[in-house]
Amino acid sequence: MEKKPFNAFEMAQQQFDNVAEKLGLNNPTRELLRNPLREYHFMVPIRMDDGSYQVFKGFRVQHNDARGPCKGGIRFHPHETVDTVRALAMWMTWKCAVVDIPLGGGKGGVICDPHNLSDREQEAICRGWVRQVALNVGPVQDVPAPDVMTHGQHMLWMLDEFERLRGGRFPGFITGKPVGMGGSLGRTEATGYGVIYTVREAMKELGLEIGKTTGAFQGFGNVSQYAVRLFRESGGKAICVSCWDQEDKTSYTFCRESGIDPDELVSITDKFGTINKEKAKKAGYEILPGDAWIEQEADLLVPAALENQVTGANASNIHKRVRVIAEGANGPTTPEADRVIRQRGIFLVPDFLCNAGGVTCSYFEQVQSNMNHYWGKNEVLVQLENKMIAGFKAVSDLASKKNIYMRDAAYMIAISRVADACHLRGWV
Ligand code: NAD
Repeated sequence: MEKKPFNAFEMAQQQFDNVAEKLGLNNPTRELLRNPLREYHFMVPIRMDDGSYQVFKGFRVQHNDARGPCKGGIRFHPHETVDTVRALAMWMTWKCAVVDIPLGGGKGGVICDPHNLSDREQEAICRGWVRQVALNVGPVQDVPAPDVMTHGQHMLWMLDEFERLRGGRFPGFITGKPVGMGGSLGRTEATGYGVIYTVREAMKELGLEIGKTTGAFQGFGNVSQYAVRLFRESGGKAICVSCWDQEDKTSYTFCRESGIDPDELVSITDKFGTINKEKAKKAGYEILPGDAWIEQEADLLVPAALENQVTGANASNIHKRVRVIAEGANGPTTPEADRVIRQRGIFLVPDFLCNAGGVTCSYFEQVQSNMNHYWGKNEVLVQLENKMIAGFKAVSDLASKKNIYMRDAAYMIAISRVADACHLRGWV
């Protein structure tokens, strides 16, 4: 029999159905929340550099805005599908709700490959995308952000087009803007720091002194680098990171028992994120296979690279010393691995809580942009820490009260908050 292709939206709906059952939600609430509230599908016609015309397909999915304007990225990808965008929009609703920020969930995309497009052509796609949905997005409706293959420059082109159409300055329309052009200080650090804010709380609950713990990290990108930094500043010892090697087309783990130094490693990392193996060896690092990070004798594991990394096949390699797994990446753990982690009593900080520092800081960017008044970095980070700790506490309190897994508790809190908002508004 032919294998059915993976469909992210079906998976997101299944996850939702399981939690809805546990919460005893009524049928109209289930019907409302297992589907997007609104979707926009449109074509974006562009004049190419050679004078020809091409037409790209664009989407914006607004899953739910009962708690506030939708929030979520815009992806440029040649294999984008509306079902992926729907799933990601739904996950954004839960992520915003679990850290209790007053926003809903959205996601958008354009089917295109930016590698084959000039800057001018990409600018035309950004402006064309905004023209198609200008009346349905905005600071009080739906606030986009960068995502796969989009960044600050794309956000500024989109903002500029939106402001031309609406006739004013609306920096709160979009986030991920460069600092000085409406961006927020602290955004670069936010996701990695947020991971460690939750780790500190988890360790407190387990009676672990962070200064006596070691951590193994997968990945050495934005999330991992800042998580390693704050973990070290908090007194912990990071013993490895891993990265993808662009030339060898495989990944490696860089280990040093006396502790790794992120600044030293950044100085020998190229623009593709590959750490130089020879230089690392000279600096006393051991170079191990890519999946060796999971076997390290550490108190903490932080998968912060990709989805599908802790699986049924390798979960048994997790060292017996590991007490906490903090999911910096989205979806790093498969359901089979979840069962092993749960059985072994390892404390899990689930992805949509653990890496919510990024969206929380984007919310702060929107707040600052709407006020047209910008905070210092310290103020941003203090507020971020408060939000992450409150989110963590709510989930861990429910998990211990009901004796349930942290991932289930996080879903139950997020979904019940959104369901409550729909009831209070009188929708269902
Ligand atoms: P990034 O591109 O900056 O870094 C990814 C890192 O993973 C790189 O060091 C890369 O070399 C490494 N890597 C890639 N393939 C690998 C492999 N097979 N084995 C080991 N390492 C590998 O990305 P990022 O922004 O740090 O994001 C990491 C994860 O966190 C993603 O799942 C992303 O969706 C999630 N996330 C990021 C943010 C954010 O604000 N950056 C927010 C929420 C979630």
